[in-house]
Amino acid sequence: MTRTTRDITTRRVALKTIAAAIAGIGAARIVRAAGETIPHLTDSNPAAASLDYTEDTNDVDPRKYPQHTAQQRCANCKYFDPKAGTGGPYAPCRLYPGNAVNVNGWCAGYAPPAAAAKSDATR
Ligand code: SF4
Repeated sequence: MTRTTRDITTRRVALKTIAAAIAGIGAARIVRAAGETIPHLTDSNPAAASLDYTEDTNDVDPRKYPQHTAQQRCANCKYFDPKAGTGGPYAPCRLYPGNAVNVNGWCAGYAPPAAAAKSDATR
């Protein structure tokens, strides 16, 4: 059986349609993931309350947390996961699964990024 030009053209169209459908499914997943929102962490969360989570690192009580510095904030904590966020001021924190924290927030669970902690340890 020989292939005709029409058979080859039909096959090409079918493959392009399948490729476009697969690309469309991938794009839909990305849009849905970006559009999803998770609840913002509040002190009604017992773990957040026990670690004194605040949405503004400048509100941290220096008498209670003398080790805290103004540079410490969720945005540079190793538990902050901006890639899982929507690009806004909130993103998930791995210490509080299912909750988003503010980039300017802080809690007593703060930990510097692994690279910074490693370089601090060598000083
Ligand atoms: S663990 Fe880090 S990212 Fe999570 S709330 Fe505390 S300071 Fe923010």
